[in-house]
Amino acid sequence: MHTIRLFQDDVYLKNAKSNVTEINENKDKIDIVLDKTIFFPTGGGQSCDIGTIDKYHVVDVYEDEENLIHHTILEPDCNLTINTEVEIKIDWDLRFENMQRHCGEHILSGIFHREYGGVNRGFHMGDDYMTIDISLEDNLNYTEINWDMCLNAESYANEIIWKNEPVKVLRFNSYEQAKDFPVRKPLELDEDISIVCIGSLENPSDSVACCGTHPATAGQVGFIKIYKVESNKGMYRIYFEAGKKALLEYDKSYDVLTKLTNHFSAGINDVMDKIKAREEKNKSARDRAYRLAKHVASLEESKIRKALSGQPTVYKFDILTIDELLGIGRNLSEMLTSILFLVHNPTNTVLLFSNGKPDCGKLVKDNANIYGGKGGGRKESARAIFPKEEYIDVFIDLIEKHLR
Ligand SMILES: [Zn+2]
Repeated sequence: MHTIRLFQDDVYLKNAKSNVTEINENKDKIDIVLDKTIFFPTGGGQSCDIGTIDKYHVVDVYEDEENLIHHTILEPDCNLTINTEVEIKIDWDLRFENMQRHCGEHILSGIFHREYGGVNRGFHMGDDYMTIDISLEDNLNYTEINWDMCLNAESYANEIIWKNEPVKVLRFNSYEQAKDFPVRKPLELDEDISIVCIGSLENPSDSVACCGTHPATAGQVGFIKIYKVESNKGMYRIYFEAGKKALLEYDKSYDVLTKLTNHFSAGINDVMDKIKAREEKNKSARDRAYRLAKHVASLEESKIRKALSGQPTVYKFDILTIDELLGIGRNLSEMLTSILFLVHNPTNTVLLFSNGKPDCGKLVKDNANIYGGKGGGRKESARAIFPKEEYIDVFIDLIEKHLR
């Protein structure tokens, strides 16, 4: 016995009456089997319907090996009983969205096959986009899929939609009955074969075996948009969207574009030029800032060099970076006869330099932690970082006292 699939005869049924034939409790899930259902179970790359059985929410629908369709509900107080009639209802918005996306995939896959001999070897329906993996194997003239080919395919696919070609589902009891009907992929089933045909039966735009749900006409798909193509494991992965989801993605993208054009006081046609001009300006400002910093570091270094007196000395900096201060310290270390402190104010960091005497690393190790400082280093240079600015001067004072 199998569940009667009402969606096969009328894909537009949004609610129906049915009878409960099985109730299986499994941990915190309850699986309901009905004699007939409008709920499409997960399969063939299409996600399942959700909806309600009486007042209970169906969160998952799947088919078992005996062709029974199970409807999963999570409510613990479920009081459905076997052999009772129930009202079933699907989330129609989600179903229609699934039908648009799934049928969009048929149309696009059919085009890639017809135009370029590309065989769809993988399909993924994600939350933000769908992908198909196209393997070029049926037309030796094509060895790659580039962006222009994708735009052509997109245009052909949308023509099929705008011509509102019929989408027919042909049912065959056996492989023998179905085998002569032209399909873009070899049949894999021996019985109960459904072939979905878009366009005329004599010269279809697409024709392939499929058990999913499809709108009755291609026009209901709305439109198809390809986002990008990339090569993937010897095949070409096409990212795209169809139907209402494609419109929502378009809205999202256009919103970003509007923010960009407003931000750059530009129109769609010149926003890229304005971004490039801004980048050029930023690059030249960065180059100038780099040259100025070098110049300032060199001036500071000369100033310190001239003032070296054999006594501990402290210099504080706001603008130069720690790397630039390290450069100054390294350049001076050989001529130091006492300790040199270079303080980087923005990060409460004290850099210590000497000619090895005193041992900067040891001074940091022995004294920094008294004021919550962390750090370390070698004899000739070390650093200590403090949680508060006021600890810097007391740390330096303490070291100067040690050295007297
Ligand atoms: Zn299908």
